[in-house]
Amino acid sequence: MSTLSNPFEVARETLRQLAVRRVPPTPDNYLTLYQEIAGIKPTAEPFPDKLLRSLASELPKGTPEQLRLARQLEEAVKAANWNEYKARLLEFIGSLADAQKLAWSELIGDLFKQWEARHNGLTAARKREALEHVLSGSGANPETLYNRLSNLLRAWGQGRENENAAAVEPPPVDNAEPRTAATAENDLLPELRQLFAFTLETAIATQLVESPQLASDAKTLAHDIRMANTTAQLQEFLTRLKRFAFKLELLAEDQAELRSSLLSLLRLLVENITELVLDDRWLHGQIEVVRDIIDKPLSQRAIDDAERRLKEILFKQSQLKASLFDAKEAIKQMLAGFIDHLANFADATSEYHDKIEACAEKISAADDITSLENVLGDVMRETRTIQLNALRSRDELRSTQQKVQESEARIRELEHELEATSELVRHDQLTGALNRRGLDEIFAKEIGRAKRHDTVLCVGLLDIDNFKKLNDSLGHEIGDQALIHLATVCKETLRPQDTVARYGGEEFIIVLPETSLDDAIAALTRLQRELTRKFFLHGNDKVLITFSAGVTQMEEADTQTTVVKRADAAMYEAKRSGKNRVVRA
Ligand code: GH3
Ligand code: MG
Ligand code: MG
Repeated sequence: MSTLSNPFEVARETLRQLAVRRVPPTPDNYLTLYQEIAGIKPTAEPFPDKLLRSLASELPKGTPEQLRLARQLEEAVKAANWNEYKARLLEFIGSLADAQKLAWSELIGDLFKQWEARHNGLTAARKREALEHVLSGSGANPETLYNRLSNLLRAWGQGRENENAAAVEPPPVDNAEPRTAATAENDLLPELRQLFAFTLETAIATQLVESPQLASDAKTLAHDIRMANTTAQLQEFLTRLKRFAFKLELLAEDQAELRSSLLSLLRLLVENITELVLDDRWLHGQIEVVRDIIDKPLSQRAIDDAERRLKEILFKQSQLKASLFDAKEAIKQMLAGFIDHLANFADATSEYHDKIEACAEKISAADDITSLENVLGDVMRETRTIQLNALRSRDELRSTQQKVQESEARIRELEHELEATSELVRHDQLTGALNRRGLDEIFAKEIGRAKRHDTVLCVGLLDIDNFKKLNDSLGHEIGDQALIHLATVCKETLRPQDTVARYGGEEFIIVLPETSLDDAIAALTRLQRELTRKFFLHGNDKVLITFSAGVTQMEEADTQTTVVKRADAAMYEAKRSGKNRVVRA
């Protein structure tokens, strides 16, 4: 079959062939036939990220293990790594199977036996209470349930052995009750309870100085476990303890992230120390910044800020250091040259003095005009040499000075170049807002943070209205100034934790962490209002800049791409419905 190249024709032919060949018109059949007609090789299966993500999101998340699995799966989808996805899933299922290998039938048999056996000091009601406690406290984790139940049955069993032992032993002389499992348990429980409370209060709470809320939760739990007596109270305590453990796990993850950020900060510092040994004051500056961070309570955002600041300082200092070094070198050379000339000059003048003195002697001793003529000739020659020396010194000094000026100009040029390259890395050169790369970094960080802390992240996309007209009427350069003005007003109006990035020509993305959709819309509306207050001035003319924006909230299944796409669609809706407005996606 001859292959068609026009997509419309291919599509038409595909539909026709479906009918001719009486193939059911499913998407798969359509694709196969389309590729055949267009002469395209069938592409490899695309990574089914939507399906896999929806599976991951629907799995239960009741226990830390399940939560961890969900997170691992999500990471694997993000990396489009099917092998990783499969491995994590198999590993999890394998661990479930391990749990099922526990010898349940023997344990249940034992439970029946112990339930019916009579134990000294253990009434049926107490047994039921203990059993209920184990069942409710083990949650959905079969392994925990198995272990706790085994321990309980072992304790009951020991009670029976003790009972038998008591039967053959002579009764105690002090009339005290025989020591049974129940009383042993009664003696041990308060101690255990005290120890547990102590652990919560001291060992755990003191570790939580950075999280005052969790520290106070630990103290409250410690207080409550001392007071809890009834099954209902204990059950309530267990539920809260589980929630507390879950929060601790989240905190541990946050701290791991903090630690790794700190490490990279330190690494950055150490890498640069070799550069800094030239002058101790530089080192001092770096250390000050780090000390500043360490003095305050650590937060991810503070560390991010400090890292950014430190990078800038390091970069500026390395520039400064290089230019200072060059300038010093030039001045040193100039001074050395000057001293050389001075020495030559001094040598020459002292020689001159000697010679002139000798001439003066010759003059006073001269008795005829010829010898006087000779002496005068000497004097003239020496004086001219001195004059020449002085002239040469002056010329050479001038040329050295010029060289210094040239090298200074070169240094300034280099400084500008370096500055430009550093800004290129994360910032847009024109407006100083983040560029795409900077935006990607911030997105990755904020998405992760929003998921961990279960907070709302909103994204706005704005596009200047009729910007082409502004460019056409006032010129491209004024257009550039208008872009800078908009970026500046954005930064001044939004909160420090909000991010402004230049997404394209006259499009900007605004990332608003910990912000509800209503608040995000309010923020962009405020920005609109602010632009009507802070005019962009072209000479004395006020130029009103307006924009259309789409705002959306990040959802569980969103990626950077999907969320930006939705904001973009809402922005187009704003354009379609008349511009200069903010539309909710
Ligand atoms: P709309 O309201 O529909 O957004 O109209 P518009 O004119 O703003 O949109 P359009 O996409 O037609 O034009 C965008 C213009 O932005 C075209 C381009 O010349 C201009 N532009 C893009 N980047 C820059 C820049 O860096 N500097 C300047 N001065 N203009 C830019
Ligand atoms: Mg545009
Ligand atoms: Mg536009």
